[in-house]
Amino acid sequence: MKLSILAIMLTVSATAASRTYEIPSPGARTVLTLSDSDSCLVYSVAHGGTTMLADSPLGLHTSCADFASGLRLTGVDTTYVSRTYSQSRIKHSTARYEACRAVATAVNAAGDTMAVEFSVGDNDIAFRYLIPRLHKGETGALTIAGENSGFAFPEGTTAFFTPQSDAMIGWKRTKPSYEEVYAVEVPVGTPSGYGHGFTFPALFHVPGGWVLLGETGVDSHYVGSHISDCDPAGVYRIAFPMAGENNGNGDTSAAVALPAATPWRTITLGRELGPIVETTVAWDLVEPLYEPLEEPRPGRGTWSWIMWQDESINYDDQRTYIDFAADMGYENALIDNWWDTRIGRDGVERLVAYARDRGVGIILWYSSSGWWNDIVQGPVNVMSSSIERKKAMRWMRDIGVKGIKVDFFGGDKQETMRLYEDILADANDYGIAVIFHGCTMPRGWERMYPNYVGSEAVLASENMVFSQDFCDNVEAVHATLHPFIRNALGSMEYGGTILNKRMSRSNDSGTERRTSDAFQLATAVLFQNAVQNFALAPNNLHDAPAAAIDFMKRVPTVWDETRFIDGYPGKYAVIARRHGDVWYVGGVSALDEPVRLHLRLPMCSPESRMTLLADADASGRLEYSHVAPAHDGTLDVVLYPRGGFVVEAENASLPQ
Ligand code: CA
Repeated sequence: MKLSILAIMLTVSATAASRTYEIPSPGARTVLTLSDSDSCLVYSVAHGGTTMLADSPLGLHTSCADFASGLRLTGVDTTYVSRTYSQSRIKHSTARYEACRAVATAVNAAGDTMAVEFSVGDNDIAFRYLIPRLHKGETGALTIAGENSGFAFPEGTTAFFTPQSDAMIGWKRTKPSYEEVYAVEVPVGTPSGYGHGFTFPALFHVPGGWVLLGETGVDSHYVGSHISDCDPAGVYRIAFPMAGENNGNGDTSAAVALPAATPWRTITLGRELGPIVETTVAWDLVEPLYEPLEEPRPGRGTWSWIMWQDESINYDDQRTYIDFAADMGYENALIDNWWDTRIGRDGVERLVAYARDRGVGIILWYSSSGWWNDIVQGPVNVMSSSIERKKAMRWMRDIGVKGIKVDFFGGDKQETMRLYEDILADANDYGIAVIFHGCTMPRGWERMYPNYVGSEAVLASENMVFSQDFCDNVEAVHATLHPFIRNALGSMEYGGTILNKRMSRSNDSGTERRTSDAFQLATAVLFQNAVQNFALAPNNLHDAPAAAIDFMKRVPTVWDETRFIDGYPGKYAVIARRHGDVWYVGGVSALDEPVRLHLRLPMCSPESRMTLLADADASGRLEYSHVAPAHDGTLDVVLYPRGGFVVEAENASLPQ
């Protein structure tokens, strides 16, 4: 539905050269102010009467026109847009988008015109640039070397974000891959360390509210961007990829055909954290780019590599993990790197048939490389070539492989964005679902690419195996951040829920887990990804608490609704998700002391049937019990240090 409304107030300042427009959201909770004072376009954002962004710059550096300075606003057209849509593989099964869409046209000193399009919703703002054919239609292509777009936060703002790494560093020179430790609640202006700024999403706590920055709608037509370090004027600016990414191959600029629309930069706003956790802005602003050949099959999976490592990539161990998947009632088993030489195509074919007989689908690992890193695990040089990729996909379709996990991408250049899109589009032609690892964060991709089922782009469970420090100091803190940051704007393939005490096949050597079983179970609810390859091991069938295994047999991976319940990023997080008529409430703590939570669960009533899986005490012993909420729907739960809980509530629903 589209209705034209006058949602705009125009004020022309005393200096006739400057114009200011105010664009309120449909519920008027948010007001965007746009002006061309000082010959530069600036915008600011107020939400609930609180300043969320101070005057922040707009503009583009292009090869054919200067759209960064000297811009004058010439008019603003507004439209009210409201729609409800269904979407699989995200935190809600239906989403409602309601916003004032405003197209602000501007002209530069040379007479070239362009526009900034805004989407102003009650809790989400987004903007993008629209560039027509230029110079009386003669100019039909240009490059964009960078943007003037920025975000200026009010004084007293703190940040929760993670740095962009150097290019071509780390394991086999595979970075950047969005696998860095977060800075938690640091003052705006804190240096990134590497000097390349911070990756999306980035969360900011302004005095009186919260702001989550991200971007969506990035495909083969643009680069993936991030934000710079804070400049001396206190502004975080949109930053483009680094020259060294992709082993120096490919340009850092975006090459576009005119007329062009850039990706959307998103700004999610809340006085409290609910709108941050529950936002659908990443999907509200994009549309499916093609029809799915087959609806991807979401589901749970087993994954030998996480506990049994490279040595498990052999026929017999993979059969053991397929049996394990069947025992758990899971839909998938993932065969990780090295299968091409250690199992071979014939062996994989037999494993796929063996799995099919047990109701289990196979996901196969591929390297994305390529000429952009030093990866030796095979298969290599398949996904990077259209010819080899299609041959492999035809083979996978013929033998019945359900999905691929493609690892170790070269960064955020347009060249790499094109590779992501090409892999997705080709895989769709063969009915194959796609997971990305060692990769960038998704940007609306669940909606744009119907066979896309998740990305890593996080310090994932593998770090539990690699590093005791990660177990000691990072795992719990990051788990309390993801629902508010990384996982708020896109699916997160974390590969979690570890019930081994030690990260090894024997469960008596290797790094030690510091979080409780209840914490691990809660992450199956907290971390959203349509395909979850859990880090369970076959021995957990007899050495883990039966209540934990029973829960892991029934926990779903797709959700109809998501609600923020309680928490503070970096301290603890409690999130509720509905699947069908069952609500799952998961909570985890990174605090050093136990905390008693008085949870308001608006979906629960005294008639609800509720069970609680939680730490019995500070020892982390798992306890399963029936619980009942108070008459006002509240439930008291103790969160122990590095502990957690899961509430399952049947006969529960949110008041309409
Ligand atoms: Ca990784």
